[in-house]
Amino acid sequence: MSTIAERIREIRKRVPEGVCLVCVSKFHPAEAVMEAYEAGERDFGESRVQELVAKEKVLPKDIRWHFIGHLQTNKVRQIIGFVDLIQSVDSLRLLEVIEKEAERIGRVVRVLLEVHVAREETKSGFGKEELEAVWAKLKEFRHVEVAGLMTMATNTEDEQEIHRCFREAAKIAREHLGKGSVLSMGMSNDFELAIADGANMIRIGTDIFGVRKKT
Ligand SMILES: *Cc1c(COP(=O)(O)O)cnc(C)c1O
Repeated sequence: MSTIAERIREIRKRVPEGVCLVCVSKFHPAEAVMEAYEAGERDFGESRVQELVAKEKVLPKDIRWHFIGHLQTNKVRQIIGFVDLIQSVDSLRLLEVIEKEAERIGRVVRVLLEVHVAREETKSGFGKEELEAVWAKLKEFRHVEVAGLMTMATNTEDEQEIHRCFREAAKIAREHLGKGSVLSMGMSNDFELAIADGANMIRIGTDIFGVRKKT
């Protein structure tokens, strides 16, 4: 079995400069995060508020925490003070709550809009039509900075379908966001395809930390 540090070294060889690697540590203990941290990683992704809050307390303060799971509006307050990037904004209501909470503590919070381009209906995120309403309202948000988009491709072996998803998200980003915007797409199974389609942020869990034992 290879170590976390060895797996990171292998992945880093395949990730061009300028692409941010987010190590997805959900369901793995703080010790695993520390191993990746000691290998030089600073960006970590979590999908549950309780787990993120617990890890943030015990881990180094220069870690940049990314929230990547479904975020309930009543839990925004627990992470708003320290989270670096909320990648999974999937409703206007959530955006409004983040705005309110960010204003309350006097900071500007960076977020990504999660866009739904995959075939599975179960995946979350804004559809194209829903996004129109968001673009129209963006100017009203003064404590939220929409820094880019996050997406997940259809879970399939079909590379053409995966490319279709990534290209669609890249197109939306091109049409609606500035040049330097964040395009977070690609996971363990498909990050090289995502990079080919313009991803500048990838989110890798399994390939770094191993298979998750979900409870
Ligand atoms: C869990 C998760 C990942 C990591 O997936 P792996 O296949 O383990 O690399 C990436 N993005 C999101 C949104 C996730 O929930």
